[in-house]
Amino acid sequence: MISFTLTLVFKYLLVLGLAVSLWFWKGETAGWLTACLGLAFLYFINIRQLFRLERWLKKPEIDDLPDAWGVWGKVFSGIYAALRQEIKKSNKGIKDLELFILAAQAMPNGVTMLDSSDQLIWYNDKAREHLGLKNQGDHGLRITNLVRVPRLAVFLQRHNPQETLDYRPIHNPNQYLSLNVIPFADGRKLLVSYDVTSIERADTMRRDFIANVSHELRTPLTVIHGYIEHMYDDKAQDQGTKLNPWRRPIHLMMTQSNRMLKLVDDLLMLSRLESGDHPAREEWVGMPSLLSILLDDAKALSQDRHTIEMELPQQAGMTGAMDELSSAFGNLISNAVRYTPAGGKILISWMQNEHGCGVFKVQDTGIGIAAEHIPRLTERFYRVDRGRSRETGGTGLGLAIIKHVVMRHQATLKIESTLGEGSIFSIEFPYWRTDHQQQNPLLVA
Ligand code: ADP
Repeated sequence: MISFTLTLVFKYLLVLGLAVSLWFWKGETAGWLTACLGLAFLYFINIRQLFRLERWLKKPEIDDLPDAWGVWGKVFSGIYAALRQEIKKSNKGIKDLELFILAAQAMPNGVTMLDSSDQLIWYNDKAREHLGLKNQGDHGLRITNLVRVPRLAVFLQRHNPQETLDYRPIHNPNQYLSLNVIPFADGRKLLVSYDVTSIERADTMRRDFIANVSHELRTPLTVIHGYIEHMYDDKAQDQGTKLNPWRRPIHLMMTQSNRMLKLVDDLLMLSRLESGDHPAREEWVGMPSLLSILLDDAKALSQDRHTIEMELPQQAGMTGAMDELSSAFGNLISNAVRYTPAGGKILISWMQNEHGCGVFKVQDTGIGIAAEHIPRLTERFYRVDRGRSRETGGTGLGLAIIKHVVMRHQATLKIESTLGEGSIFSIEFPYWRTDHQQQNPLLVA
């Protein structure tokens, strides 16, 4: 740009120089005439080119850029070069964008881009097929108004990439979809949909198989167990007779058949919870009566080896499925008794936290769990110490059952533990499940 300005200044100086020379050579009139004509000529040329530039700027097409010579030629060719550079850059941007769109279209999963108010920005063909969207007409509309899935709005609000929402779409009930939300750039979201129909089918077959086998095993096992129990009672009265040597084997048979029955019952319960065919029943569960039954069970299991205390408001409760909650709470309490050595202390409590959510908590001074095991505890048959679990009558399914009950009640399970010091297992239920008319806490020992 400096060179353009200098050239222009040089031209004006040249005219003035010529005028001064003519002044001395031909007289004052010639000098003035040359200066006026020369400056007017330069002025006219520059005004004309400025006018052409202004006209071009109103509709700046690269091919319509005016032709010029001299300084203005340089200005126009500078504009031309800068424009070409910009066009090159934006062409590359468009090509890259097209490539990204092609890559997103080629993905086997559905990809939907949402803005911060969950309105559709863009989606690929797979997402259109999965979510039942229209070709273009749905852009800009809120996804929750287009895709009818009960928990979708809450799921989108949670922004949790670890969480999935699995469902059967109404427009294609043979398909099973899994949705995942990935937040990006200022509250925008990527909603990724996966077709998990075959995985779900295999899972259903596995679940059905376990449920059927457990169901088929239960009746013969009950019969065998009944006879063994009967024989054990007989032998107990037979002490001192020649049949006495059978007492111990029969006792062993009874313990093992008991374990098998418990295992089959837990498997049946787990299959029922996993199948998700029926949502958890919504009934009123009074905590004092439920927990006092569980406290009696805990005391029977502990046989006075532990101090067991319970803390709960005199009137407290929540809505949920009584049998499922009883099983989950019972499993946590039984674990606390089984994994706490004699002389230890167990505290069972129900309370409301600062957000008004009901929290069931079991705290023990037992053997504790090393941190690396905690994330895997809710897997079926995962045991830290297999021997100890068997010895204490565990099936390895307790926490897997608890996990499903917790999910079916939209609750969260928290496990805190220190090896050698004890553990705290707590279940936090949503606000809307909890009764908010609690009275002062009651301590039961
Ligand atoms: P199990 O029938 O073996 O007790 P669970 O699923 O209930 O199966 O528990 C899984 C494992 O978690 C147990 O085997 C045990 O190692 C550990 N565990 C559960 N509760 C406790 C506890 N309160 N204290 C220490 N370890 C525990």
